[in-house]
Amino acid sequence: MLRGVLWFTIIVTLSALFAVEVEELRRKAQRKTDAVRGESQKNVEKILARFAEFKSDLEKLKPGLGISLPVDTKNAGKLRLIDHNELTGIPEAPKVFAIVTQDYRLKTWHSDSDSENLDRVRAGDKVEVIMVVNPRSAGLAWALIRTANENEGYIPQMYLKNVAEQVQPSTQKKEAKYNISSAPLRMRSEPSLAGELIQLVPAEAEVEVIGYSATKDTIDGLSDFWAQANYAGKTGWLFNGYLRPVAQKPAPQPPSVGAGGFTMPVDGRVNSKFGPRIDPVTKKSGDFHRGIDIMAPMGEPIKSAKAGEIYENSTNKWWGNYIIVQHDENLFTYYCHQSRTAARKGQRVAAGELIGYVGKTGKATGPHLHFEVRVGKDPKDPLQYLK
Ligand SMILES: [Zn+2]
Repeated sequence: MLRGVLWFTIIVTLSALFAVEVEELRRKAQRKTDAVRGESQKNVEKILARFAEFKSDLEKLKPGLGISLPVDTKNAGKLRLIDHNELTGIPEAPKVFAIVTQDYRLKTWHSDSDSENLDRVRAGDKVEVIMVVNPRSAGLAWALIRTANENEGYIPQMYLKNVAEQVQPSTQKKEAKYNISSAPLRMRSEPSLAGELIQLVPAEAEVEVIGYSATKDTIDGLSDFWAQANYAGKTGWLFNGYLRPVAQKPAPQPPSVGAGGFTMPVDGRVNSKFGPRIDPVTKKSGDFHRGIDIMAPMGEPIKSAKAGEIYENSTNKWWGNYIIVQHDENLFTYYCHQSRTAARKGQRVAAGELIGYVGKTGKATGPHLHFEVRVGKDPKDPLQYLK
């Protein structure tokens, strides 16, 4: 009986001593962490001061521009290095979580040599990531994490499986975005390719994003969320990988007009000129190239080189889907191998107006625009007209 009491006393005393020691370690760790945060806070204040100066200079040049500091929400974890609530102009970053991949005693500091053990975390625990030290160094990166019991400590980042990828972009405010792809985007009833088609959102069209899907999807090799958006009075889901903030939208380039009065029908490089050449498909010489080939990606918009009227919109086995535009009684331009034409016969078109999309229909080895200029039936060198 007496022995039992003695053992009990010893165990209680040891546990109490251990608890005091852990408490002391925690305090020490806290002081170091506070110092890092203080340092970081100073840097942030410096950046913000510089930004404020830049903004006021800019306001003088362009009043009412109202720019704000760009914040990469994808790296929100790193932004939590500072306390955003006290900084105007920087939105609060969402919390970033990770899953622990193996049992580990959290450390008081982000190094093995200058560090002591704290609480144990177990594989499968979900923890909040407060900051990552040396984030670009795979071997040396440490994460300061907060456990479900609100305890903080450091763990090598390699023992964390990031679930940050699944943290949604902020939906606190509505965002104006635009469709960056050159083809229309399908708005769907659900955040999935399986969702029903609601409507098409044309290239460059602006939409209002009101939220994001809970998880990412991968489409055309792009991994991103689906954005819930309003367009033309309807609400549905668009793949966010094809959307960008309207603030980033480049100003439209005026079409480049050559001395011949023609604008380039497609943005791209001329890779086969007018004249005699080796046939690209049969590899035989003696072929005469009646136009020029302009390399451009599939779906790139094709624009009329000059104002005119759609003379023909048709398909054959050589040119695939093609359009002929008549500019005056005797002057014609030809646009061949289109994936899809986008103008009707008899329609009036302005210079630079969309008439179709680049493709590789007909006799073509890859997507490009075969462009011809003809006076009557005679093909002329298009480069002379584009210069
Ligand atoms: Zn060609």
